[in-house]
Amino acid sequence: MKIHNFSAGPSILPDSTIKNSAEAVLNFAGTGLSILEVSHRSKEFVAVMDDAIALVKELLDVPAGYEVVFVGGGASTQFCMVPFNLLAKKAAYLNTGAWAAKAIKEAKGFGEVVEVASSKEAVYNYIPKGYEVPSDADYFHITSNNTIYGTEIRKDLDVSVPLVADMSSDIFSRPVDVSKYNIIYAGAQKNLAPSGVTIAIVKEEALGKVDRYIPTMLDYRTHIQSGSMFNTPPVLPVYSALQTLKWLKELGGVAAMEKINIEKAGLLYDEIDRNKLFKCTVEAVEDRSIMNVCFIMNDEYKELEKDFFDYATSKGMSGIKGHRSVGGFRASIYNAMPKSSIQALIDAMKEFEAKH
Ligand SMILES: *Cc1c(COP(=O)(O)O)cnc(C)c1O
Repeated sequence: MKIHNFSAGPSILPDSTIKNSAEAVLNFAGTGLSILEVSHRSKEFVAVMDDAIALVKELLDVPAGYEVVFVGGGASTQFCMVPFNLLAKKAAYLNTGAWAAKAIKEAKGFGEVVEVASSKEAVYNYIPKGYEVPSDADYFHITSNNTIYGTEIRKDLDVSVPLVADMSSDIFSRPVDVSKYNIIYAGAQKNLAPSGVTIAIVKEEALGKVDRYIPTMLDYRTHIQSGSMFNTPPVLPVYSALQTLKWLKELGGVAAMEKINIEKAGLLYDEIDRNKLFKCTVEAVEDRSIMNVCFIMNDEYKELEKDFFDYATSKGMSGIKGHRSVGGFRASIYNAMPKSSIQALIDAMKEFEAKH
């Protein structure tokens, strides 16, 4: 039976990424050696890093004045690295979930933090709107896709200060106007590669404006100046990232990807809205994520939750349990998720409905 991987992260990757990565573990770039055992300074690996950085720039149309770095530590390290490098006096944050709250906690160690709005009181089931961003803030931090709750800010916001975005779970899912951001960062394990590497797209002009000492490894300039080779990078995740970036380019890039993602998410949301057993946890259609689709049983069918989980599992659905803070189900349908797997989930939902 085919297993359909709806896991929230680490999560589904393109077949070519998995196959090429496996091959490089056995014989990297015709060297007769494993990528796990060759120098990161070898010309073969330097080419991998250079190509990966160049493809990120190409696919996201990164303008001049920005640099792309591959670093370790996960998105969670970016929660402190961003304020370490950018927060001189005051920063504004939008609290749209547990990841946003963690970013806010770290920023408070570096200066004044204004939480402009929060949807915490409603278990983060919507994106706040109509808030004001202080015009003297050094930046405004958003989490573009809230992996746990299935909400997403799918437009580049217009505010009076530069944006900083945690795009861990929706980077490369749509075109982005990078020029509106001082920093975009993303842990790789949702839409790009195995865990272990994090991408940051950094506006160089925004750096060097704080007085504090920044530890070498937490200073973006270290990684920019060294081409992400200051220390030993996570070689296999970077190699895998390059394979995913190549796959994405072949498919037509992020604009083509966005079209496919909207279509895929639309199929699933339509079924949840139609099916008498289920409902979306995110009511506002414009806030619904095209990466993580969260749904629960309708009130009158609450007791069927475990039965549906077992039924879907028996049909090959993996990783659809909702986060414990939301309950119900979450189908993570990242870039690499084929339409056929979404159709399989929809079929299971229809079959289960017919039984009840
Ligand atoms: C998964 C996730 C993180 C945490 O990433 P790590 O790489 O594990 O630190 C942060 N932000 C968002 C939006 C996420 O989905």
